[in-house]
Amino acid sequence: MTVLAIAEHRRGELRDVSFELATVGRELADATDGDLHLAVIGGEVAEFADRLDREGVDVVHTVDEGEEFNHDVYVQAVTALYDEVEPDTLLMPNSVNGLDYAPAVANRLSLPLVTDAIDIERDGVLSVTREKYGSKVETVVEVDADRAAVTVRPGEWPPAEGTNGAEIRAFDAEIDESAVRSTVTGFQEVGGGDVDISEADVLVSVGRGIEEEENIALVEALADTLDATLSSSRPIVDNGWLPKNRQVGQSGKVVTPDVYIAIGISGAVQHVAGMKGAETIVAINTDPNAPIYDLADYGIVDDLFDVVPALIEAFGGEPPEI
Ligand SMILES: Cc1cc2nc3c(=O)[nH]c(=O)nc-3n(C[C@H](O)[C@H](O)[C@H](O)COP(=O)(O)OP(=O)(O)OC[C@H]3O[C@@H](n4cnc5c(N)ncnc54)[C@H](O)[C@@H]3O)c2cc1C
Repeated sequence: MTVLAIAEHRRGELRDVSFELATVGRELADATDGDLHLAVIGGEVAEFADRLDREGVDVVHTVDEGEEFNHDVYVQAVTALYDEVEPDTLLMPNSVNGLDYAPAVANRLSLPLVTDAIDIERDGVLSVTREKYGSKVETVVEVDADRAAVTVRPGEWPPAEGTNGAEIRAFDAEIDESAVRSTVTGFQEVGGGDVDISEADVLVSVGRGIEEEENIALVEALADTLDATLSSSRPIVDNGWLPKNRQVGQSGKVVTPDVYIAIGISGAVQHVAGMKGAETIVAINTDPNAPIYDLADYGIVDDLFDVVPALIEAFGGEPPEI
C-alpha cells in the first residue's frame, strides 16, 4: 500500500511537520510493506526535495508552482498528485494551511477525512486516534473505506532523520490558472511578530503567577540569557501583555521544544494540550499541588520572583529591576 504525504513550508523554510509526516508515513507504509511518497508544492522545490530525502522516503515529488501556500494551487496539485500516485492514505499537516486545503481535496476526491490525528495504525483497517474534550479523552476512529485522507497533528511524531537517496520526481500538476482565484500577497503571523514558538528549541513560558505586565521583563530577561523564546499561557495574552502568537495551548499553539520552562503556570488541561510534547519540562510554582507538577521533569517549588533572578545570574545574565 502506498502513502502520500504533503510537506509544508513557510517563508522559504520547510516546517518541522514535514519531517514528522515522513516518520508517520513510513510507519504506515511499513505496516503493509508499501511505499512512502512525499510531495512539496511551491517555493524552492529542488532544495526542499533534497532536505526531504530522509530515511524511509521512497519518492519525493516536486510541484514547482508559486512561492508560498495558495489554496487553489494546493487543491489542484494535491488532487493531481493523488491521481498520479494512487495512495491508500493521503497525509497532510493539521496546520492552518493543512486545514485550509485538506477538506477541499478530500471533497474533490470523495475521500473520508479524519483530522488532527495523534496516532494512526493500519492493521487491515485504518485506525486514527484523536483527542476530545481538551485532551481528556482519546477516541479511535476506524475508517470504513479502503482509501482515506488524514491530517496529522504537528509535534506528535519525531522528525525523520538521515539521508536516503530517494527518487526525486518533478511533477507537472497542470494547474488551471483560471481556477486560481486567490493571490498570495504576503504572510502575517496572527497577533503580530515574526516569532513562531512552535519551532523553538527552548521556551521560557510565563503564566498568571507573574501578576503584573511590567514583571514580564523578568521572564524575558531569563529567555534572553538562555537564548530561548518567550511564550505564555492564555491569561497573559487575554490581558494583552503578549501577542496571540506567543500563546501555548489548545486555543494557542502546540509546541515541542527540547526544554519548556513553565513559570507561574498552573498546568490547566487546555495549556497542557499545547506543551505536553516537550522533551524536558521544568516548572517553577509556589504551589506544590499545581497540576503542572504531574508532568514536570524538574520542579522548583518556590517564588518565581526569587527563583528567576537567581537563574538569570546563574546563567551569566543580569536580572532587571522590577
Ligand atoms: C476553551 C478554552 C480554551 C483555552 N485555551 C487555553 C490555551 O490555549 N492556553 C492556556 O494556557 N490556557 C487556555 N485556557 C485557559 C485555561 O483553562 C487556564 O485558565 C489557563 O491556562 C491558566 O493560566 P495560568 O496557568 O497562567 O494561570 P493560573 O491557573 O491562574 O495559574 C497561575 C499559577 O501561578 C502560580 N503562582 C502564583 N504566584 C506565583 C509566584 N510568585 N511564584 C511562582 N508561582 C506562582 C500559582 O500557584 C498558579 O499555579 C483555555 C480555556 C478554555 C475554556
